[in-house]
Amino acid sequence: MSATVVPATIEEKWRARTVPVDGGHLMWTGAPDMRWQGGRHKASHVAFTIRTGRQPVGYVRPDCGMRGCVLPEHVDDQPGRQRTRAQLRTLRGLGDRPALCAQGHHQDVHGRLDQYGKAYCNVCSAIAHANSVGTGHGRIGTRHHGADRWRVALDVQARYYAGGSIRGIALDIGRTYRYVYDLLVLTDTRLRPRGYHREFHATTPRRQA
Ligand SMILES: [Zn+2]
Ligand SMILES: [Zn+2]
Repeated sequence: MSATVVPATIEEKWRARTVPVDGGHLMWTGAPDMRWQGGRHKASHVAFTIRTGRQPVGYVRPDCGMRGCVLPEHVDDQPGRQRTRAQLRTLRGLGDRPALCAQGHHQDVHGRLDQYGKAYCNVCSAIAHANSVGTGHGRIGTRHHGADRWRVALDVQARYYAGGSIRGIALDIGRTYRYVYDLLVLTDTRLRPRGYHREFHATTPRRQA
């Protein structure tokens, strides 16, 4: 008899939608959000949970240089990336990271190390890059490009860290929720869990978008 295999676990369902590619990476072939038991789950988040056994904090990204890779060993969440950078600093004898760069950007969020172990500020670097290429790549919209976009993004981030809600900031600056959200992701902002202000949601954490 033929049987339709129903995945027993979220991991099983996830694995069935991945394909290994050259270089030891694993690419996701399913829809952006995987449905499981009434919830939606990002493939990268599931990958992170498979490796660590816990929910990620913030944005999950591959750190292997392969865009879209979901190999559990290649993805990390925001605290994980920050830890890795701190360890690299220690290994290279760089000592503790300064709190702020010369332009006043918070280095616990924006501090990076290049491939040679030299420390740099991600925002300063992005602004310099945007200025050098003119209009930038404009991933977010058509009104703000390059360095301009970074200025808006940093303003949005500051409002968010000051306690502003994404919806409130969006209203304030006359843009959409999605627009503000994308800027927060772009600047590696530590997002508060969904339903942060609603206690009855605090006990049933949902995935972060
Ligand atoms: Zn990879
Ligand atoms: Zn900076």
